Amino acid sequence: MSKVHNFSAGPSILAPVAFQKSIDAINNFAGTGLSILEISHRSKEFEAVMDETKDLVRTLMSVPEDYDILFLQGGASTQFFQIPHNFLRTSAAYTKTGVWAAGAIKEAKLYGEVRVLASSEDKNFSYIPKGYTIPDDVDYFHCTSNNTIYGSQMQQFPDSPVPMFCDMSSDIFSRPVETSKFDLIYAGAQKNMGPAGVTMVIVKKSLYNRRPEGRPMPSMLDYKLHGEKGSMYNTPPVFPILVSKFNLEWVKENGGCEGMEARNTEKASLLYNAIDSSPYFKGTVAVEDRSKMNVCFVFNEENPDLEQKFNAACKEAKISGIKGHRSTGGYRASLYNALPLESVQALVNVMETFA
Ligand SMILES: *Cc1c(COP(=O)(O)O)cnc(C)c1O
Repeated sequence: MSKVHNFSAGPSILAPVAFQKSIDAINNFAGTGLSILEISHRSKEFEAVMDETKDLVRTLMSVPEDYDILFLQGGASTQFFQIPHNFLRTSAAYTKTGVWAAGAIKEAKLYGEVRVLASSEDKNFSYIPKGYTIPDDVDYFHCTSNNTIYGSQMQQFPDSPVPMFCDMSSDIFSRPVETSKFDLIYAGAQKNMGPAGVTMVIVKKSLYNRRPEGRPMPSMLDYKLHGEKGSMYNTPPVFPILVSKFNLEWVKENGGCEGMEARNTEKASLLYNAIDSSPYFKGTVAVEDRSKMNVCFVFNEENPDLEQKFNAACKEAKISGIKGHRSTGGYRASLYNALPLESVQALVNVMETFA
């Protein structure tokens, strides 16, 4: 079978070497004669995986020593309420830049006042709002670095007078970020880190004393407890962590986040150039806010006949996963780290031949 070009928005493409190593570990994990699927998470072999994965994250993202790196469950969606549960005492500030940001706002409202500092909802989330001021009398500021569904991406992060939290689910490890500027970063693994089933949280330990007084704290929601227990308070998602480790090793071997940024810039330029020079297609996001991870485009004019032909041509070329999100329509090509340039070239070829 010839190769499928996988543009899926998530769960998404991973480095092929990660699949091969995962298969080996299912058969015989770390020379134990046991499968990774049947071994204790307290075994020294898995504890080593946990430590190595954290070390990789610490190196790749230059995470300072006073931050915990946690591997939790429940997806990024659980972070939408775990964050306010731990840190929203009276009010918090959010930007509303897409479906996921709106989801985070909805959950925070369960805990207190939410000030939406800026929103791009007026233009169907097609840009990143700028020029807002973060107040200094809120408990924290929350933003979304990359809007997976709409294809917009923050190119800069504001200076915040209060702790800054960021949902980086869909662009983590895709470019260097100044981790120390943030107090908490989280990401569901399944976009650019590993398979579904683990959520990474990078949290500054000094935040732990900001928890709301008197609020009951179920153990599983307690970042501090997870930190103290080294993400082993309960059974961690053993297999997704291992696969993430294999994928991150590939990232490291390929130049780390700097290397990924160069790779992703090349891929995104190729595709955006093809969109901009095509008489048939147009991008849907303000040029300066375009995402290098999720490239959204539509036909210039609605034309079901052309769409059908284009879809058939993509299928023929084994291009998979470019249908836009059900809430936006059109097309979305996700160019996560592991997607090779040749896949983007295959899509561009179809667009050009089609024209
Ligand atoms: C996919 C996504 C989420 C939701 O992640 P789950 O792990 O499915 O809960 C949240 N935020 C962003 C930016 C996403 O891309």
